[in-house]
Amino acid sequence: MIAACYHRNSTAGQIGNYSQQEAQRRLPELARSHGFPQVEFHLEAGVSGEELHNRPVLQALLHRIERGEIGALICQDHTRLARDRDLIDGQLIKQVCRKAGCLIIDEQKVYDLRIDADDLTSDVQFLGAKIQKRQNLRGIVRGLEEEARQTGMVTRRREMFGYDRHTELVDGKARRVQSINLKEAELVRRIYELVLEHGPREVASILNADPSVWRPVKEAKQRVKAAARYGGDGTSRPWWNQDIREICTNPLYRGVALWAKPENERRGQRPRSDLMAHVNNVTVEHPELAIVQSDLWHQAQQALASRAARFTRRGVRSSYLYSGILRCPKCHGTTSGLRATHNRHGLRLPTYRCTQWAARGKAVCTGFNIRERVVTAGVLPYLANLLPRAEIEDAIATALSSDGRSELERRQRAHRTHAMAEVQQRIDNLRMSLEVTSDRDEHIRKEARIARLKEEMVNHGEALGQLDSRRANHRSAAAILDSLGKIGDVAMLDQMVRHQPQLFQLLARTVFQSLTVEGFHIGRKYSCRVVAVDYTDSFAVLLAAVNHRDAAGILAASEQLPQLMVSA
Ligand SMILES: [Zn+2]
Repeated sequence: MIAACYHRNSTAGQIGNYSQQEAQRRLPELARSHGFPQVEFHLEAGVSGEELHNRPVLQALLHRIERGEIGALICQDHTRLARDRDLIDGQLIKQVCRKAGCLIIDEQKVYDLRIDADDLTSDVQFLGAKIQKRQNLRGIVRGLEEEARQTGMVTRRREMFGYDRHTELVDGKARRVQSINLKEAELVRRIYELVLEHGPREVASILNADPSVWRPVKEAKQRVKAAARYGGDGTSRPWWNQDIREICTNPLYRGVALWAKPENERRGQRPRSDLMAHVNNVTVEHPELAIVQSDLWHQAQQALASRAARFTRRGVRSSYLYSGILRCPKCHGTTSGLRATHNRHGLRLPTYRCTQWAARGKAVCTGFNIRERVVTAGVLPYLANLLPRAEIEDAIATALSSDGRSELERRQRAHRTHAMAEVQQRIDNLRMSLEVTSDRDEHIRKEARIARLKEEMVNHGEALGQLDSRRANHRSAAAILDSLGKIGDVAMLDQMVRHQPQLFQLLARTVFQSLTVEGFHIGRKYSCRVVAVDYTDSFAVLLAAVNHRDAAGILAASEQLPQLMVSA
C-alpha cells in the first residue's frame, strides 16, 4: 500500500522554509516506521484558503483514497488538514478515509476511523484545534483593538502625503512614529484651499502644471512603475483625482484618526471578522498630526459634497447608453461601462459590470456583467409597454375633441361674445347721450355707468382669453401625446438606438432614475428582463397623468421634461 505524505504552506513566502524541509524529512520516516515501504510526498504550496476547494493537491489525494489506491495519509497534525470554521471539510476528509479504510497518521497517533474510539478522539481534537484557533485569534484581535483605541492605527496604514515615518526607540522597544513633513504640509494646506473653489480633478491638473510639486512616490517598489509611466527617476508622479479626494476627506489632516468605519459606509465595506463586529468608529485625537484647521477641513467637506450634488453622474455625457442608470441585480450597487472584446475579430462592444464586484471582489458582490445590446433588447419592449399606445391614442382623441369643439365651450364663447357686443353698444349709447346733455348730475351718473360697463367688458375679455389659452393647451397636450405615442413603439425606439443614440440616452435618463436588469437564457439565446425600476419624479407624474387621460396634467408634467419633449 502507498502512504501519501501531505504538507501545506499557507503562504508563498513559506515555500522551502524550515518547516517544509522538516516535513520532507520526517513525514516519509514516519510512514516507513509504520510499515509503509512505498511513500509519496505531496506539497500544497502557497494556498492561504482554508477551504477544501482551494486545495487541489489534497482534493486529488482524496479522490485516490476513494479509489482505494492509498493506505495511509501522513501529516504533521491531522487537525491542520482542514481548518474551516464549521468543521465540515474535516468531517468530509474523515468520511472519505473511513469509507476507504485509509489510516490517518500524524506525529501523535495513528487514527483508524473505522474504530469508534479513534473517530471520537479525532473529533475531540478537531474541536480542540478550533477552540485553540479562536482563542489565538481573540488574543490577536484584543491586541489590535487596544492599539486602535490608543493610537488610531496611524502607523499601520499606508504612508500618507504630508507625513514622515521613522523608527524610534520608545521604552527600549522599536516603534514606528509618524510626524508632519513641513514641506508637504504646506502643499496639503494649498490643496484644501484649492478644493474650496475647484473640483478634485481640476485641483490635480492645476498642481500637475508644475512638475516640481508632483506627488512624491514614497515606496521604492512603486518607483520603477512610476518611472516607466511618467518618465524621470520615478521619485514623483502626477497627482490623481483620487489623491486629492483622499487628502481632503481624511480626518487625520485635522488631527483625528478614525478607525473601523461602520460597514454601511462606502469606505468600510471590506468584510470584517465577527470578532471585530463590535468595534466601530474608533476615534483618537492626534493634535500633533493636525495640518489644517478643523474649520477649513469641514469647509472642504461641504465644498466637495455640494459639488458632488451639482455634478451628478446622470448629467455627464457618456457613450454608454445606460451610464448612471443601470444597477447591479446582485448587490443593488452601480455598474460601470467598459468596452470588452466581443469576437475573434477584436470588435469591442460596450458591456456593463458591477462596480463593487470589479473593485472589491466576490466578498462584496457575487458579480454581474451584461452586454449593452442585451440590456437594450430587454429595455425596448419595457419602454414601449410603459407608454401604452391605446391609452395614449385615447387621450389624444379626448384632448382634440375638447379643442373648441365641445358644446359647453361653444355656448360659453357665444355668450361672452354676445355680452361684449351688448356692453359695447350701451357704452356707445351713453357716450352719445353725454354729448347732448348739459345737466351736471346726469353727466356724473353717466360717467360712473360707463366706468362700470368698461369693467364688465374687461371681465368678459378675460374669460374669453382663458377659453383661448385652454384651447392652446389642448392642442399642445395632443402634440405631446402624439410624440409619446411614437415612443410606445419598439420599432421606433430601435431606430432611435441605432441612429440617434444620444437621443435614446436622453430618453432613458428622462424616464429612469435607476434600472435593474437580469440576464437569462432562452435556449442558446441570452436575453434580459427588467427586474426593478425607479422612475424620475417628473416621469412618474407624467405617467399618472397619461393613465388618467388628463390632458392638462400631461401638459403640466411635460413641462418638467423639457429635454424629452423638445427632441421627441
Ligand atoms: Zn454587484
